[in-house]
This record gives sequence, structure tokens and C-alpha cells, in this order.
Amino acid sequence: MAIQSINPATKEVLKTFNPHSPAELETLLKNADHVFEKWRATLFTERAELMRKAAQELRENVSYYAEIITLEMGKPIREAKAEINKCALCCDFYAENAETYLQNEEITSDASISYITYEPLGIILAVMPWNFPFWQVFRFAAPSLMAGNVGLLKHASNVPQCALAIEDVFRKAGFPEGVFTSTLLESAAVENLIKDDRIKAITLTGSEGAGASVAAVAGSQIKKTVLELGGSDAFIVLSDADVEETAKMAAKARMINTGQSCIAAKRFIVVEAIASPFTDRMKFYLEQLKTGNTLEDSTDYGPLARQDLAVSVQKQVNESVAKGARIILAGGQPDPQSAYFHPMMLTDIPPDTPAHDEEIFGPVACIFVVQDAAEAIRVANNCRYGLGASIWSSNVPEARRLARQIESGAVFINGIVQSHPALPFGGIKKSGYGRELSYVGIREFVNQKTIWVA
Ligand code: NAP
Repeated sequence: MAIQSINPATKEVLKTFNPHSPAELETLLKNADHVFEKWRATLFTERAELMRKAAQELRENVSYYAEIITLEMGKPIREAKAEINKCALCCDFYAENAETYLQNEEITSDASISYITYEPLGIILAVMPWNFPFWQVFRFAAPSLMAGNVGLLKHASNVPQCALAIEDVFRKAGFPEGVFTSTLLESAAVENLIKDDRIKAITLTGSEGAGASVAAVAGSQIKKTVLELGGSDAFIVLSDADVEETAKMAAKARMINTGQSCIAAKRFIVVEAIASPFTDRMKFYLEQLKTGNTLEDSTDYGPLARQDLAVSVQKQVNESVAKGARIILAGGQPDPQSAYFHPMMLTDIPPDTPAHDEEIFGPVACIFVVQDAAEAIRVANNCRYGLGASIWSSNVPEARRLARQIESGAVFINGIVQSHPALPFGGIKKSGYGRELSYVGIREFVNQKTIWVA
């Protein structure tokens, strides 16, 4: 089937691509495998120079790349530009730090000298989602390429132009052909790719189902995977939180990328003492947000990335409401054919409803009122996911104590959960395993080899 690039705001088909044929894919794999032997032998300084050029290419053409994102998946242009700048930051960060992160590490043992050396593995397959179509790829590619690996991208089928544009960034920066390759493939082609001997490891960012199926095939081949999957992050508001500021941040945290972020806050767990003013103010801030032309800087939120995604989110809301959830802020899909979904707030959410149990990948804020901090932690942990969480309180020592009780890969105190190249990023439970970014992430796809000398 042809791979289509469709503007979700207008439904216009922007471009159509034929998936790579088996023969074309074979050529791409051969090139990548061949270039790896040369690439692994390059110095960190040589790789860093190219990585800095990639950063420069992104920075000098922010609007060009941002527009590709906005037109293809509907993100407002302001957020798309921020995404491109963040990718540039990530390239510079790894250009600067990869050598330090991967230098030999001496360890005292029974040897005269013993140490760990970090060596690249070969072709790493990256199966990536559409929600941050540049950032998800760069946060894998910048560390992996700096480590001496080569990258093969299978991007989400609705962002082929982003996939090709990213390949272009590396090409323009001067990376040898094959060090970073974008394939145009449907997900059904991934299984055979994983089974190919030239693919040494796989990183997947996406849904739980995709993660489980990729990990199962990779497991059968004894190949390492890193899985960055869904999340239903708790946003815990304690009674001593600054209501106004926290409510403003809550609206922002839910609306990142029009609600389509794995680390968007999705469950707002609020202590009863301040639940009413907090909910009112959060509603107020959500009501202020404007949709409109996605290419204008003043637009706060756009459509969801595809019309079927808006239908799914509406279905999750409808089922939850049918079972007793109460709508505080009405919004949703204006009509079933639309990819748009206006912000919503739900409360009184019973168990066994989608709003209680599932990730809602769209702008729906679910409010859970609790008696105290202890109950807030219990509700936060009563979730299949464990990606991020935030705690809002003026008592930071107490918040730090509570942070240790939360089952997640990250807890932010008085701040919105976000990624930073210096900090590890990833989850536990059904949010996946392994970490990206920081020195932890760059060491996921290397041979951590022990050298022992008598
Ligand atoms: P998705 O449907 O799982 O797609 C992600 C990628 O996996 C796409 O390239 C997709 O290809 C591919 N894929 C899907 N099913 C597959 C299968 N059975 N075998 C091999 N590949 C498969 O996810 P999405 O809807 O694009 O993204 C939303 C999900 O990603 C949410 O759950 C979100 O929380 C999660 N996410 C997590 C993180 C994180 O860092 N933890 C970050 C962003 C998003 P096709 O497009 O061709 O189907």
C-alpha cells in the first residue's frame, strides 16, 4: 500500500510514496552494513564535527523543517520550531559529551589493569512514532551515531516527509551515505528486518502493542531492545501547592503537542482541600487556548495527527461518560470526520473505564480527587504505566520523600515532566524498559566490553 502524507488540518494529501521494495531495502541494508566498518573507525572528533554540522543545519533552517512537521502531523508551528531547536541542542550535546561518556572506565580487580571499553554494535533499527517526528529520532540518532553505530529508521507511516527530511539533515551535514538511513516501510515489514543478521539491536518508541510485538521478535533473535512506550503520567497536587501557578502548569502539561505526548500529564490527582479552586483555574486556562491556522505562531493547539486518532479519543471519552464519568469542560471532536479535538476535562471517573485505566492520547484531562498525599500516591501507582509523574507542593523535602514512592521512570517536583539530553529518559511497568539520553542512554547500544590484563 502507498504511504501517504496527509495534512490532518485540511485532509489534503500532500504526497504519496511507494514503500521500499525488498530489493531497495536490501541495497540500503548493504550500504549501512558496509559503511559501519568505516564509521566505527572514525575518531570522536570527526563524528562530533559532523554532528555539530547537523545541529547547524537544523538551526539555520528551523522554519523549513518545522513546516514539514506541522503540515504532516498537525502540530502548531510554534511547537514544531521548538522541536527542531531541541534536536539541534541534542546534536550539540552529544558532539560535546559522547567521548567522555564512552571513555574507558578503569575498575580495580585481581588484574594488573582492568577496564570497561564501549564499542559500537552495528546497525541499530529505530521504529519511531509520529508525535515528535524529529525529536524522537534525534534523541536516538545523536547518541547512537556518536557511539559509532549506524542508524536505520522505520518511521511511522503518516510522517514519511519527516523521515526523508531527517535523512537529508545528516546528508547535508556530511555524514557518509548509509550512516543514517530512512526506510519507507509499513509496520508489517519490521519483523523480517529484525530477523536480518545485519540488524544488531532495536529501539522502539510507540504504543504498548507495537513494543510487545517488536520485543517478541527481537527476543526470538536474542537482540537487545529499548522500549519507550505509553504513559498516563500523574500530576499530583498537594494541599500546600500554589493553586494559580499549578493550575496554569497543569493546563500546559496536558496540552503539550495537543495532548499527544507520552509524558503529557494525563491524570490530575488533587487533594480535596484545594480540588475545587484548582479545577476551576485549570478549566479557565484550558478555555483560553486557541486553535486556528497551524502555521501561525499564535495557534496553541492543532488537530490530532490523524482523524482516526480523534475518533479513538472520543470513543474513550464516550465510554467513560456512559459509565459515570462527569464532564467538567465540554470539548471533543466537533464532528466524526474531523481530526480536531477540543480540550476536555472529566471527573468522578469510575474504575474500569478508559479514562481510569487507559492512556488517553489527546487533550482530555482526568481529575481524581483524593483525601491526602498517601492516597495520592496510591492512585498514582494504580496504573499499568510508569513513565513520568510530577508533584506540586511548597514543601519540597516532603515532595522529595514522596517522589521515591512513585512507580515511574522520572518524577519532577514543581515542574512539568520533560526530557533533557543530560537526564535519563524512560519508563517502568508497561511504559517499557531501557533508557535514552544522558550517559545511560548512549551506553544502551554498545558492547560494554571487559578488558583484563594479567
Ligand atoms: P504506534 O502505533 O505503536 O507506532 C509507533 C511505530 O511503531 C510506528 O513506526 C509504527 O509503524 C510501528 N508499529 C506499529 N505496530 C507495529 C508492529 N506490530 N510491529 C512493528 N512496528 C509497529 O504508536 P503511535 O500511535 O505512533 O504513538 C503513540 C504511542 O507512542 C503512545 O502510546 C505514546 O505514549 C507512545 N510514545 C511513547 C514515547 C516514550 O518516549 N515513551 C514517546 C512518544 C510516544 P506504522 O506507523 O507503519 O504503523
